[in-house]
Amino acid sequence: MASIVPFVRPAAPPRPRPATPRRLYLSPPDLAGGEHAALAAVLESGWIAPAGPAPAAFEAAIAAATGLRHVVALASGTAALHLACRVLDLGPGDEVWTATLTYIATIAPAVQMGARPRFLDVSPESWTLDPDLLAGELAAAARRGRLPRAVIPVDLYGQCADLDRIRAACDRWGVPVLADSAEAMGALYRGRHAGIGARMAAFSFNGNKIVTAGGGGALASDDPAPIARARHLASQAREPAPHYQHETTGYSYALSSLLAAVGTAQLAVLPARVAARRAVFERYRAGLADLPGLAFMPEAGWGRATRWLTAVQIDPARFGADREAVRQRLDAAGIESRPVWKPMHLQPVFRDAPRAGGAVAAGLFERGLCLPSGSGMSVAEQERVIALVRECAIGACAR
Ligand SMILES: *Cc1c(COP(=O)(O)O)cnc(C)c1O
Repeated sequence: MASIVPFVRPAAPPRPRPATPRRLYLSPPDLAGGEHAALAAVLESGWIAPAGPAPAAFEAAIAAATGLRHVVALASGTAALHLACRVLDLGPGDEVWTATLTYIATIAPAVQMGARPRFLDVSPESWTLDPDLLAGELAAAARRGRLPRAVIPVDLYGQCADLDRIRAACDRWGVPVLADSAEAMGALYRGRHAGIGARMAAFSFNGNKIVTAGGGGALASDDPAPIARARHLASQAREPAPHYQHETTGYSYALSSLLAAVGTAQLAVLPARVAARRAVFERYRAGLADLPGLAFMPEAGWGRATRWLTAVQIDPARFGADREAVRQRLDAAGIESRPVWKPMHLQPVFRDAPRAGGAVAAGLFERGLCLPSGSGMSVAEQERVIALVRECAIGACAR
């Protein structure tokens, strides 16, 4: 029998006071306070494997936070997207469509399974998949007899895509919708949580997300069948037998109990984290909205964004500097900011992929900058960012 070593929390060494202000990161983890106790409880229980009560409790917490009934906790959001593609039986010859303005993890698993990606533009009102463009492209694809096997809308920077209209367009042709809600824990769409209404929704608890497990993800659905299949595949597709028995090959994607415990402690403060990110956004708006040539990512009328990241558009002609000059000015002052996602259709790896439009996303990338948005950022730190951006607006960082 395994002996259980009692967990003793080591005393923290005294922290030297930094001579220069600490580097301000884009979206660092923000501890909730309950993580140490949750980790200690898991260690003391001896159940640290990627199975048992801690992952089950994390799944229950995700179900409670989202309202999605069936949840499997996984090693990453990318693993969730990969399993969703497997559950949909994607393979060579299939097309998968997604918004071009996203992180590569949205589409990488489908590509790795042999599917062909096709990238669609986003709408300026939300920066998410354009439902009118999608509806037109699906009708044209149906006429050609080449419908996609799946459509993956992306809930960007904590703002939900227009899921009802995307669903309506896809339902007409029987195309399943897989929501990439990795950036949207805590976001609402028409009063319901991000991902509700999609066949499956993927969430991420990576270190930079609004709440984190220190690395982790989840796949969720209101339908038990796809989640049961994903759960089976996540643990090497082991059949119920005393020996190791397999009818297909799976993955080692289950979430460690230790990380699940951290994730559960973080989820407990999700509403406070949403409020904090929105407060960060409001302070940026109060401090910067008067500047000519600077505009904030709009909040679409259909939902309540979390403002996971505050993103702005900088028009160099009117602002007095381009977004890269602003980024470099902040970087020189020890402040991390980042261009808006470089669209997939502009990525060298997808240079030959078919697409529909892309000019809106390309413009958002060219002018878009994400400002430090961590929920643990102090007001003084944020005022430094605001002051530096304002300096750029009067030409102090033009290149
Ligand atoms: C973070 C993210 C993912 C992937 O999540 P990981 O947990 O990092 O694997 C997928 N899609 C989008 C849009 C993301 O931002």
